[in-house]
Amino acid sequence: MNSPESILKKYWGFTSFRPDQKKVIDEAIQNNDVLALLPTGAGKSICFQIPALCKSGVCIVISPLIALMNDQVNQLLKKGIKAEYIYTGMSPKKMDYVLDACIYGKTKFLYLSPERLNSIFIRERLKRMKINFIAVDEAHCISQWGHDFRPAYRSVAKLREWAPNATIIAVTATATKRVENDIQLQLNFRFQNVIKTSFKRTNIFFESHHTENKIPSIIHYLKHLKGSGIIYIRSRKICELLSKELKKEKISCEYYHAGISPEDRKNIEERWKKDITRIIVATNAFGMGIDKPDVRFVIHFGLPNSLEEYCQEAGRGGRDGKPSKAALFFNKNDIHNLQSLMNYRFPKRKVIRTVYQGLANKAQIAIGAGENVGIPIEVEKFSKKLNLHPLTVHYAIKILETSGYVFVSEDVNTGSKLKILQERKEIEGILKKNDFQSELLSVVLRSYTGIFNNYVKINEGKIAQVMNTAIKKIQKGLDILERTNVVDYKKKIFLPQVFFAVNRLSSKDLILPKEILESRYEVAKSQLNAMIKFAVENKKCRTNIALFYFDETPKSDCNNCDYCLRNSDSNHNENYIIELIKSNPLDLAQLVKKSNLPRTETISEIRRLMDENKITRDGMVLRIKS
Ligand code: ADP
Ligand code: MG
Repeated sequence: MNSPESILKKYWGFTSFRPDQKKVIDEAIQNNDVLALLPTGAGKSICFQIPALCKSGVCIVISPLIALMNDQVNQLLKKGIKAEYIYTGMSPKKMDYVLDACIYGKTKFLYLSPERLNSIFIRERLKRMKINFIAVDEAHCISQWGHDFRPAYRSVAKLREWAPNATIIAVTATATKRVENDIQLQLNFRFQNVIKTSFKRTNIFFESHHTENKIPSIIHYLKHLKGSGIIYIRSRKICELLSKELKKEKISCEYYHAGISPEDRKNIEERWKKDITRIIVATNAFGMGIDKPDVRFVIHFGLPNSLEEYCQEAGRGGRDGKPSKAALFFNKNDIHNLQSLMNYRFPKRKVIRTVYQGLANKAQIAIGAGENVGIPIEVEKFSKKLNLHPLTVHYAIKILETSGYVFVSEDVNTGSKLKILQERKEIEGILKKNDFQSELLSVVLRSYTGIFNNYVKINEGKIAQVMNTAIKKIQKGLDILERTNVVDYKKKIFLPQVFFAVNRLSSKDLILPKEILESRYEVAKSQLNAMIKFAVENKKCRTNIALFYFDETPKSDCNNCDYCLRNSDSNHNENYIIELIKSNPLDLAQLVKKSNLPRTETISEIRRLMDENKITRDGMVLRIKS
């Protein structure tokens, strides 16, 4: 067996493990199931990747998002480590090939979404693999007490039965004690084994601003800040609006949300990473897998639904260990809106069944069919048809997803398709024209065969490369050719797609357990309350409010949050005033004049000191009370 250190050095080029990584890896190598609760950026991936590389066999990685899998697999491949993932829309042939490679020991890491564990086809193949480790990324998804429950995660316990010799390595960045215990229970840990560090991030300054006018407040705030940052907003519309307002103030920024094409999103992220753009104004679509070390501030415009989400997002700041800010801007309305959003987040069972029925109708899927069929959805239109509020539909689909009936994919690449509508003779005439469209058409003809009779998948990116121009221009050119009836161009769609995870049932047979409705409602309510408390509280160390929530017991205040700063300021002011009075008795007017502090601050400080009986008035003269 190669030593973990030598593997780290060989593939990653790092010289040493971080202390907690080492502990997790040691446990895993001794075949002890282990749960690692480490903050974002701690390097959790290595905690399962290195043990897997130390031993023979395949490591199955359960991960919640295609984007995350894609990212990690690519990083492993770049290091020369064989890794694969099974994704939506993969052809059965390719899937076959990938699974076989795992059985024959040619692949080291196989990334799977938890839903895949319910497929008989995949299950039979998994049983034939030599699995050394089962890695469960974002393990909090397995618990209904977590903030991101995915019942399909529960199937990992079955995987454990199919691979009885495999050791489990579960990792997550957020967990309360209750979730921590639940994860180990659900995964059938052979014995309790948790490696946990404090979630305290000493370099992050937490602050909360209650302000009715958030936009001017944030603009003012930004003008006193340096470096790059993220502003999180729940709504796409407001995301765009704020970005516009910031630009008016000459603040460099771009907005980012799931309504933007994957290609554009990637470019926006790249520009930010390279510091061409200073600030990303984003919904929570921006986040997973972001690894920019020098994020100097994370601002929240309004409140997220839970302290778990808040801490995860705020934790993207200051990964380099240098000072960074986490600032929350909220008003009464935000609190009110979140509370009323609760009703949309948990629609009635009847409504959920209606939405399911609506999806089946839209795709024209019969009962007993439809597994893996994708339905592009424009929520606005679709909800109008069903006569429901778009938010209701959005959350009903989420609950169907949580229940394992459907899954949603934001980034399905449907691919563009093209067919030529005219006879070859007519085309010859167009080709002679010598304009952009004719050049484009001739490249298409050279690159794709069979395009006269059938729709053929085309790749605008490749055509753009051949013609040495931008993708946008190619798309525009094809649009023009379509308008003139030369081609039929089915442009790639970026609509989110809803897939049937299992064959369609009659909507009355859907099982929607209490666990995912009533119990989740209660969990969500208490999470929301904790979030609100964190935001409005101003008499406690803000860092500690979060730490207590995550069941830590900090011994002292953090000295690095808005509360602690105010507190130390007032200590500082108190000592200053007392020193002034000590050195010579003064009356109020003289003292105000002598003090370096602003007039109002001096007066309020004196008032406080008198209230607390630390100074008294002797006639007009102020004295220290002895
Ligand atoms: P997490 O999943 O905990 O948020 P990642 O696994 O994505 O974190 O790792 C975060 C970053 O830390 C990555 O860029 C990774 O290469 C880096 N990293 C991990 N372990 C080490 C180490 N021992 N030394 C230096 N850098 C490390
Ligand atoms: Mg991670």
